[in-house]
Amino acid sequence: MNDSQNTLGALIRAVADFPKPGVTFRDITPLLADAGGFARCIDALAEPWQGSGVQAVCGIESRGFIFGAALAQKLHAGFVPVRKPGKLPPPLVAVEYELEYGRDQLQVRSDALKPGERTLLVDDVLATGGTLAAARELVERLDAVLVGASVLIELDALRGRERWLGDTPVHALLHY
Ligand code: AMP
Repeated sequence: MNDSQNTLGALIRAVADFPKPGVTFRDITPLLADAGGFARCIDALAEPWQGSGVQAVCGIESRGFIFGAALAQKLHAGFVPVRKPGKLPPPLVAVEYELEYGRDQLQVRSDALKPGERTLLVDDVLATGGTLAAARELVERLDAVLVGASVLIELDALRGRERWLGDTPVHALLHY
């Protein structure tokens, strides 16, 4: 077990059967409330991308906003919110993706990323991978360059990483 898994993992609360039976919800709010832990978490999330020329960090609504905005500051990059439907005014670009029951959408402003802009995706949890895959499609639709993706937590058993085709790196700080 690495240092992050020990020290940061202790600040993640596992909530059984939330939001529905059989799901273990990973609650990141104790980590956010711990000044030292939150700072160490942002340092560790930034570390693999130092020197990789990231120009834009896309944070996925809503917990991806928290980590993404702090990470953007750390990497001296801009921040782009990737939002759920009904939040952003037009013009926008949207990608639909499958949920366990039904479909959802992610959206960005149609000029949120410049062609060729070096972009990093950020979310709190990688579960089935559908959310990150949809965000990746948004980046590609805007002709930006995807440098990679960072998540705080990867749920290994759900094998979301396998939906992430190609050799673009995905970094996860904690694995469950
Ligand atoms: P997925 O598209 O299945 O990879 O799900 C990722 C999204 O769902 C992220 O935005 C997470 O915030 C949320 N999520 C999925 N599973 C969990 C979980 N066990 N605990 C907390 N958030 C989760």
